Amino acid sequence: MGVIYLDHAATTAMLPEVAEAMQPFYTEAFYNPSGIYQPGQEVRKKIEAVREQIASVIGAEAEEIYFTSGGTEADNWALQMAKPKNRRPTHLITSAIEHHAIGHSCKRLETQGCFVTYLPVDSKGRVRIQDVKRAIRPNTSLISVMYANNEIGTIQPIEEIGKIAHARGIPLHTDAVQACGHIPINVKREGIDMLSASAHKFRGPKGIGFLYVKKGLPLPRLLEGGGQERGYRAGTEYVAGIIGMGKALEIAEETMEERKIKETQLRDYLSRRIMEEIPYARMNGHRWFRLSNNINVAFRFVNSESLLILLDMEQICASGGSACNAGSTKPSHVIEALHVPEEYKNGVIRLTVGEENTIDEMEHVVDVLKKKVEELRKESPEYEDFLARQTS
Ligand code: PLP
Repeated sequence: MGVIYLDHAATTAMLPEVAEAMQPFYTEAFYNPSGIYQPGQEVRKKIEAVREQIASVIGAEAEEIYFTSGGTEADNWALQMAKPKNRRPTHLITSAIEHHAIGHSCKRLETQGCFVTYLPVDSKGRVRIQDVKRAIRPNTSLISVMYANNEIGTIQPIEEIGKIAHARGIPLHTDAVQACGHIPINVKREGIDMLSASAHKFRGPKGIGFLYVKKGLPLPRLLEGGGQERGYRAGTEYVAGIIGMGKALEIAEETMEERKIKETQLRDYLSRRIMEEIPYARMNGHRWFRLSNNINVAFRFVNSESLLILLDMEQICASGGSACNAGSTKPSHVIEALHVPEEYKNGVIRLTVGEENTIDEMEHVVDVLKKKVEELRKESPEYEDFLARQTS
């Protein structure tokens, strides 16, 4: 059957149309977009056209879009807004299930005089609105809550959080890396003041993304140097990447509805069969407020790392819900925040489908999963004990 790729939340295959659109900018259209000569200016026009296109897709204005090297950079940059100035402590509100690009940036901010509240989530992975309200302090300078989670696919009530933030004059940032190109987003309607996105999550190139920042917000400069990105992020632009991101987002917008239908069918087929045919399995995340491509499932009496290795040997690419630390696997901060029952915590895997997957592949994956889970359980002393207790 060949490789079955079920890790679309990690990265996606670049579309051939995207590669084609990028190609000339590596060769004949190589010119520096800051050059005053005509060919350079032509490249500049193409970059600015992409800026406008991205802005119109998310309901923003061109001058509110800053190109970055991807989601991580956009997230790190956005959180700089909460960095204390003039030694006055600041306060930032985020969730306990953010990507490390946000989580680790928060940890750094804490060493710089910023107090951070990590909002808990409910058992399905959603932030509670009353917790946001309660967490606000007089010096809260930023709220950053992700649009959709990368491990469990849960979509957050961003619009409601935006209303609360704005009533108190606090800007709202959202890490939309998993959502942009997959869910329709309108920053003005949803009250989003800053948004991070990354092209390789919607079939664009790796190493390019953007940060939307509402006009008027005091965005700190990220990189000193030339005057690129209106002086806020210096450095010659990754032109081919920007062009590729524009093309990928254009196609993502056009195909969003049909992709959603296809992914939902694949996801629902796979998750239904897993739940019906594999005992002691548990789905994590929200049933409805969920990305159409995401399955996060925990198997009791199974170690996720062992299962992922066995799947890999069968050419099935999946990922875990754990952070690997020198041989030992620890449940991820997301799984911990959900309060997944202890006996399921170590057996979490993530399967994220894409438009290229087929039902035949899903059938094969269920067959392999059934076999491999059973094999691992046969070797598990806990499972043996459990069975002995059941029969005695
Ligand atoms: N934020 C989220 C939610 C992500 O899923 C990822 C990537 O997995 C990132 C940020 C980082 O994006 P990038 O790989 O473009 O740096």
